Amino acid sequence: MSMTKTRCTDRVVGSILASWRYDISGISPEMRKDYEQHLAECAYCSARQKFHRSLDGALALLTSLSALFFLFALAVLRHIKPFENMAFSVLGLDNPSIYTMLVAAGVAGLCFSLIALALVLTTTPASSYLGGLAAERAKLIEERLPAAIKSLRPR
Ligand SMILES: [Zn+2]
Repeated sequence: MSMTKTRCTDRVVGSILASWRYDISGISPEMRKDYEQHLAECAYCSARQKFHRSLDGALALLTSLSALFFLFALAVLRHIKPFENMAFSVLGLDNPSIYTMLVAAGVAGLCFSLIALALVLTTTPASSYLGGLAAERAKLIEERLPAAIKSLRPR
């Protein structure tokens, strides 16, 4: 890839940006200008910034999916309980403890996923990144709308 061959044009600014994981949304607008200029000029840093933001987005997506998965597993467990009771009593197995264990694992997994998601959303600019992505998509869709539909919309 060409990314490894390109070097940062200003190593001082580059290393500061790297320490922030290329997130400049937290600093004051006056300070931001210099870094924004560097990101516009330096191909290396802007590529790194894109990579980190998509990584944040991927992490947020992954943790939400994981939370959904555990929620779904708990819902399934709730519904299969009557059948399971029957099956286990036929087989003479110690059903309640297995069921409790599965529910406990589901609850623990759900809690862990939610904590991970909260951490991702609070320590990374993932939420603003995903919000920006959604706004970009909406704009793209609107641009592609036929003129006839556009004229119907209030200005
Ligand atoms: Zn740079």
